[in-house]
Amino acid sequence: MDSEHKLHTLISDKNLSQELKDIALKVSNHQRISFDEGVILYENGELGYLGVLANYIREKKHGDRTYFNRNFHIEPTNLCVYDCKFCSYSRLIKQKEEGWEYTMDEMFDMVKKYDGQPVTEVHIVGGVLPQYDVAFYSELFKKIRQHRPELHIKALTPVEYHYIFKKAKIDYPTGMKLMKDAGLDSIPGGGAEIFHPEIREQIAKDKCNAEQWLQIHEEWHKLGQRSNATMLYGHIEQFWHRVDHMERLRELQDRTAGFQTFIPLKFRNQDNQMSHVPEVSVIEDLRNYAISRIYLDNFDHIKAYWAMISRETAQLSLNFGVDDIDGTLDDTTKIYSMAGAEEQNPAMSTKELVDLIKNIGRHPIERDTLYREITDYKDFVFEEVAKPQFYKLPVIN
Ligand code: SF4
Repeated sequence: MDSEHKLHTLISDKNLSQELKDIALKVSNHQRISFDEGVILYENGELGYLGVLANYIREKKHGDRTYFNRNFHIEPTNLCVYDCKFCSYSRLIKQKEEGWEYTMDEMFDMVKKYDGQPVTEVHIVGGVLPQYDVAFYSELFKKIRQHRPELHIKALTPVEYHYIFKKAKIDYPTGMKLMKDAGLDSIPGGGAEIFHPEIREQIAKDKCNAEQWLQIHEEWHKLGQRSNATMLYGHIEQFWHRVDHMERLRELQDRTAGFQTFIPLKFRNQDNQMSHVPEVSVIEDLRNYAISRIYLDNFDHIKAYWAMISRETAQLSLNFGVDDIDGTLDDTTKIYSMAGAEEQNPAMSTKELVDLIKNIGRHPIERDTLYREITDYKDFVFEEVAKPQFYKLPVIN
């Protein structure tokens, strides 16, 4: 049964409550659901029901196409002036012996290490420290741009931008223009966490607030540039906080259309100040992907990071609204393993990632950062390779 048929079967199910039927009808008619309906989905939507709705939308937008890209990460430092309670990655400055602070030369050497390799993107994000300022990042971007002009620079979140612009006494429009002129291509989605102050002030109170996060993305979009957005879910927030978070993103996207991808990030409780908070189940992960797909009707893509939620859950997520799967290569990021993710040494070859997508009946496409197709792997036959190629991971900021 195709996704359209499944949706119509569900709508005609006599056992379905009227409120869930109304939402399913809206999805079938390509209508936007309201804030209250988003909360109803979280409170009353069972996994099977949500999967039918989300998969219908996913297949309307992308069919079976499932995207991935090749990138590598640079994490300038794991020290941070902030102290987010969920952060397993940052070490406070007083615990400096556990940290690293890469120099400009060290970071540039990391870029050169990938010379000749088929990566299309460098993803730069890490902790916040005073020496990594506007001048530092401008120079780093310029050096990368000069060295490898075609490499897409996706770097820093509003957490860093807010900090470095404030320190340089420049406003957001001026700052973002400076970054663009230095070579920045796009902004990753991190630092969003949960926007609502009721939660944000408990878990990440000192860094940029929701309005500042959104304003920086808006200024970036006004320059004709693209960015992503995340949501850290499954800790102390309630369902309506998640809907509030997505509502703010949906509202900005209506005005700018600058977001490409929404990335739900699962809270992990290892080695951080919220270790007492239990993690949510795999069922809740899948429900959350599905509701994101249903709610964010103006976002093209929903992404899952397999290294964060396990290969099996990532594979399942492709039937719950996800159309983009982020793999990893070598261990150039430590964000997830330090937070207690299943994959402590995440690495997956191209073939493994392609097989993971194909094994659930989807169609793997390698893309660049802006979702332009690089390789269609539908009928691709892999030769025996002596050395596996690896993919890349994300970063929470
Ligand atoms: S989440 Fe980001 S801003 Fe917060 S402490 Fe960790 S590295 Fe710093």
